[in-house]
Amino acid sequence: MTITLPDGSHRSLPDGATGLDLARDISEGLARNALAVEVDGEVRDLNRPLPDGATVAILTWDTDGGKLAFWHSSAHLMAEALEALYPGVRLGIGPPIDAGFYYDVDLSATDKGSLTADDLPAIEAKMKELARAESRFERREVPKAEAVAYFTDKGDPYKLELLEGLADGEITFYSQGGFTDLCRGPHLPSTKPIRAVKLTSIAGAYWRGDETRPQLTRLYGVSFPKQAQLDEHLERLELARARDHRKLGRDMGLFMFSDKVGPGLPMWLPRGAVLRETLVDFLKAEQVRRGYQPVVTPHIGRLDLYRTSGHYPYYRDSQFPAMFEDGDDPVDGATLPHGIAPESRTHERQSDRDGYLLKPMNCPHHTQIYAHRPHSYRDLPVRLAEFGTVYRYEQSGELGGLTRVRGFTQDDAHIFCRPDQVKAEFKDAIDLTLTVLRALDFRDFTAQVSLRDPENTSKYIGDDATWDAAEQAIREAAAECGLQTVEKTGEAAFYGAKLDFMVKDALGRSWQLGTVQLDYNLPERFDLTYVDEHDQRVRPVMIHRAPFGSLERFVGVMIEHTGGHFPLWLAPDQVRVLPITDAQNDYAAEVVAALRAAGLRAEADTRSEKVNRKIRDAELDKVPAMLVVGRREAEAGSVAVRRHGQGDTGVVPLAEAVEALTGEVARGMGRA
Ligand SMILES: [Zn+2]
Ligand SMILES: [Zn+2]
Repeated sequence: MTITLPDGSHRSLPDGATGLDLARDISEGLARNALAVEVDGEVRDLNRPLPDGATVAILTWDTDGGKLAFWHSSAHLMAEALEALYPGVRLGIGPPIDAGFYYDVDLSATDKGSLTADDLPAIEAKMKELARAESRFERREVPKAEAVAYFTDKGDPYKLELLEGLADGEITFYSQGGFTDLCRGPHLPSTKPIRAVKLTSIAGAYWRGDETRPQLTRLYGVSFPKQAQLDEHLERLELARARDHRKLGRDMGLFMFSDKVGPGLPMWLPRGAVLRETLVDFLKAEQVRRGYQPVVTPHIGRLDLYRTSGHYPYYRDSQFPAMFEDGDDPVDGATLPHGIAPESRTHERQSDRDGYLLKPMNCPHHTQIYAHRPHSYRDLPVRLAEFGTVYRYEQSGELGGLTRVRGFTQDDAHIFCRPDQVKAEFKDAIDLTLTVLRALDFRDFTAQVSLRDPENTSKYIGDDATWDAAEQAIREAAAECGLQTVEKTGEAAFYGAKLDFMVKDALGRSWQLGTVQLDYNLPERFDLTYVDEHDQRVRPVMIHRAPFGSLERFVGVMIEHTGGHFPLWLAPDQVRVLPITDAQNDYAAEVVAALRAAGLRAEADTRSEKVNRKIRDAELDKVPAMLVVGRREAEAGSVAVRRHGQGDTGVVPLAEAVEALTGEVARGMGRA
């Protein structure tokens, strides 16, 4: 049979050859590191026979599919250990997750009864012991009756319930050592590669996520081929915990939540507001340079606006309920806000019968700004920018810190352009996003280009030629900006192709930030036009673009990326002046005045503390620049400069220090 490799080359193998045979045929080294195999896009066991004509990739630890098989097998190994330690344990589901695996288990029928975190080391030890047995994972297709008999005999109600949902002919068992599980796979060839294991936490989880069903115990773990990889992973987790933006946001006084105000509604404290406004100023200056025009729109709009845009009622579940929804009884006070006198209600409500919605998106408002006057092909593109706050009703269980909120501000802009301008506008939006990311010291980014599915073009609005040209324009724009891209076919929205930026932070974690998105839909729905060179009214193309995504999410990511040590231009407290004794407090006040006059955010620490204590506190507060002033500095009109991460950098005249700091800020803001 013939197999195609990912690079397009072919290999001939005897019929019945497995993934492992293919790996061996390529190289012994690959065979040693192979964990699973991807057959026509599906991750499978390494030791299953390959189908003739398939495209096959060998998956090692460095691939997502390899990790998936590794962690799924580790979940089975954990279940085997639990059965060995606690006979009678019942098992729910045990899938691989982003980083590791879990298994939901029920110990109520065992002697042990329940588990606590103290039991985890013993389970880990048992897993390692069992892994050393190098048991093979054996896959077996089982008739449904046999599967039901097996779990009835074993007394596992959860597996029996899972079986109810499966049809005869699609049931597979996997066994390793003395353990058998109902499972679709894929798995490693054996337990041998699982050398390093850590059970990380224990939690309660309702069976099938339903709070009326029994509560099971969820055991989380992570495993690696090498101990060093596990150590590094745990160290990174520790760092991530220390950098958690919810913790740092609190410690640094950046933002807060109040139950009285409502969950998912962040409030920016003075320091956080400075950070946020500095980011806004930075982006505004970039936008002025690139020909954007600012606009400001209200936080609500008529329901009819969102019916036209399609945001209502289709996305109703993710929005706050409408105000004065159509059909409300105008004299029924229940849906009216306080403060409207009963006698005026009927009158007030006549014009509002159609109702209003808190805006979930800024785009519909911006279409109306575009449409308020006629446009000629000569005055396109029109680039309307707004830091627009939008509201979405996220489930309360999903709210956490700044990365998932119910009210957030997008650094939004909508570009209305001609089809022949799409490439240039994409290029500028990519360039803008890269400028922003580099200024904030993100070094590692890629972009995902979401294209339409060419097999299923009826799903998409707009004709083939337009799509082909637009997709080509996006590709070329990304290439000309030197941007690494991954293309995902079939991931485009029905209304247009898009490009999403994936950014790696200092701890190597990936975040989805900025986005640039084409839209043929809203111009159609809102009947937007311009007059072309043949005097015809034609549709503009609309581009949505947001380099930060949202200010909330971006600040959350920035906090974790920098650990709260922001660059000088962005730091809420830029400079702290530290007098060595109280005798220099007056001079310190003069220094602060000079810094503030130059536009720097500065304070003096005039507490009667030793200067070392003041330095330590400034470090804890993550102030990037400290100016220490003693008797000599006061007499000479100088300052001793101390920078975070560098230590003392020398004594210089005050004017020189001010100039150096303002210069650094200007460079950081891209203004010098
Ligand atoms: Zn499984
Ligand atoms: Zn938009």
